[in-house]
Amino acid sequence: MTLLSSDTNRELYCPTCEDHYERGDVCPKDGTRLVSLGSVVDPLLGRELDGR
Ligand SMILES: [Zn+2]
Repeated sequence: MTLLSSDTNRELYCPTCEDHYERGDVCPKDGTRLVSLGSVVDPLLGRELDGR
């Protein structure tokens, strides 16, 4: 997996084909719901905070 370095416009990520997109709700290739890297919340972090 490559980290986003300079291309900050592509913040939508498809976990199925591991590709990045600028916009859209689902991947045009496989229809998988895209994950927003800009506002994604780490589930592990959330669980840790919730556990306190
Ligand atoms: Zn895809």
